[in-house]
Amino acid sequence: MVRLLIFSLILFSFETSARQSDPRAEVLSIRFHQHPEFFRVVLEIEKVREFYSASLKDPERLFVDIFQAKLKPGLHGTSAEIKSPQVKALRLAQKNPSTVRLTLELIPGPGHKEKIYYLTNPTRLVIDVYPETGARSPASPPVTPSSSSMAARENQQKGETAGKPPEPASTGYSLVRQLGLGVKRIVIDPGHGGQDPGCISPSGLKEKDVALDLARRLKAMLEKEGNFEVFLTRETDITLPLEKRTAFANEKKADLFISIHLNASPRKNRTGVETFYLNFSPDPAVNELAARENASSSKNIHELKSIVDKIIKNTKYEESRDLAEKVHKHLMQNLKQNFGPREDLGVKGGPFWVLIGTEMPAILVEASHLSNPKEEAALKTEPYRQTIATGIIRGIIEYVKSLGKG
Ligand SMILES: [Zn+2]
Repeated sequence: MVRLLIFSLILFSFETSARQSDPRAEVLSIRFHQHPEFFRVVLEIEKVREFYSASLKDPERLFVDIFQAKLKPGLHGTSAEIKSPQVKALRLAQKNPSTVRLTLELIPGPGHKEKIYYLTNPTRLVIDVYPETGARSPASPPVTPSSSSMAARENQQKGETAGKPPEPASTGYSLVRQLGLGVKRIVIDPGHGGQDPGCISPSGLKEKDVALDLARRLKAMLEKEGNFEVFLTRETDITLPLEKRTAFANEKKADLFISIHLNASPRKNRTGVETFYLNFSPDPAVNELAARENASSSKNIHELKSIVDKIIKNTKYEESRDLAEKVHKHLMQNLKQNFGPREDLGVKGGPFWVLIGTEMPAILVEASHLSNPKEEAALKTEPYRQTIATGIIRGIIEYVKSLGKG
């Protein structure tokens, strides 16, 4: 049904740390051209953050979703009929406020392969569509007179970015959803613990303690809520490696995995909630956070190849993203209702070890900032903690209901 391709990328670019009022990167232009062996689309974009692509049938088409992006006004409603052996038509649209979607209608029949990668100076996303038989392996990227320099640069980045398109995963959605099965078991993971305090607020409040308290609240409330069986990866203040947390969730055959954390930033005025699912991110701020959260793993963040493989094998990508969006939405709503307006840092992909290898939809919530005096003060109070827990639970319930059960 859905052919999944998850392309992960690390873009070694410098970003300003200043948060702009509109964080979306603008898609500036689109070009397309039929090369002798393939059809190429080039999207020039201010910044490539994260993208996702999949093939669909009836009619046969390929789409690429570019997250945290917006179309330049003149590009809205771009569409074109294409005379190509691979591609029939092309459309570019603002799918929702934060996602730009490129759709390529494909010539049905012979099958196709695609390669998607990005280049810099200027930053652009390149989508090449080959006939199935004509596709070259990533080891020999397309080289035409007009694209040789592009290919050379692509080779340099290939290790992290333009990996071999993975074999089609059977579906974007797990059996749970396909069969309309409900969510029964939930594993909540209070971040850090024992010798690893996580981040510590100026007055000495430790992330590990707040995370454990939030996890206990979540367990108690979820068990009251209905037919959930809830397990915590740690019930007390013990040191627990990240890999053991993931293994625990798999052993329990959990239907959902939720890791609870609190954030810290060198910018004291940074506030708000961020919710993550597993993916690479070219955003240095996300990678910095992930590096911190990954610190208690014996593995090295630079083991890129193995991470990429695991991410690509992780067919729970769409569900994790969906769960992250629902949890984030309700958490933000509940905090706003009870504690006033606040910054929405959004739902993002991030390379968190604790999410790698989970066999169920898995997310990591950075529920507030211990480094911000206001949020730190709030985090010391029962009502604020309860508001966080309630928001997360509302998101879980909405997700469970969207499965058709629960
Ligand atoms: Zn943490």
